[in-house]
Amino acid sequence: MGKLSVCQVFLFTFFIVLLVSIFPATSSQEVEDEKEFNYDVHSEKGPARWGEIHHEWSACSHGSMQSPIDLLNQRVQIVSHLGRLNRSYKPSNGTLRNRGHDIMLNWEGGAGSMHINGTDYVLQQCHWHSPSEHTINGRRFALEAHMVHESSDGKVAVVGIMYTIGRPDSFLSSISDHLQEVAGTKEEEKAVGIVDPRQIKIGSRKYYRYIGSLTVPPCTENVVWTMVRKVRTVTRRQVRLLRVAVHDDSNTNARPTQPINGRHVKLYRPQDREDN
Ligand SMILES: [Zn+2]
Repeated sequence: MGKLSVCQVFLFTFFIVLLVSIFPATSSQEVEDEKEFNYDVHSEKGPARWGEIHHEWSACSHGSMQSPIDLLNQRVQIVSHLGRLNRSYKPSNGTLRNRGHDIMLNWEGGAGSMHINGTDYVLQQCHWHSPSEHTINGRRFALEAHMVHESSDGKVAVVGIMYTIGRPDSFLSSISDHLQEVAGTKEEEKAVGIVDPRQIKIGSRKYYRYIGSLTVPPCTENVVWTMVRKVRTVTRRQVRLLRVAVHDDSNTNARPTQPINGRHVKLYRPQDREDN
């Protein structure tokens, strides 16, 4: 009888230990399940269903000018009148924020602006998608950065930069310690001090211009897209670091390309042709 009690105590202890070890995993699983949308094409919360999740997200399913798109050479109209990108950025206080589906670098008070067609768009934040969301002639690249700008009356303009695997990107190198810290904790926010957006290199004057949407819900339309023509480079390690920092167990956060629906895509090329 005494031996049985010891056995019972042992089993009870074992059961408690088992419960303790199971529950943290279970609760983090529930948090995962509560995420409102994901990138799994087989999921009920996947890209094809985003528009059904909330009424306010219906543009994701029913919009006619959605992003990203394939930048197919045949349908691109080459122009020289758009002019060079008119950007005047400035170093400002930044915060790295884990949004569950990506890592965002946010400049609280804005970090300077970009001028397009008489409108000033203030740089608010940048974030990254891997693989790239836009494609060129069907080809997808390793990474795409989005620099998101907003005008005083709420219009959005995004500058997108695509990267293929190669030499390290100097801007990502400069913030990699901060990214590593975010990757190592469950903290959702980390102040990172002054970050200079001018260090996000473009290296080309050629760019595509078209009117599209946000590539995440609510998929709001009439976004002015500027996609830099030159594909830059990044290391595998840098792409992996951006993914690991998200903690979402997903290998991707790129929306599939969307129908063009007769939209015009322009490729700005300076007339003097001194640029690559
Ligand atoms: Zn984006």
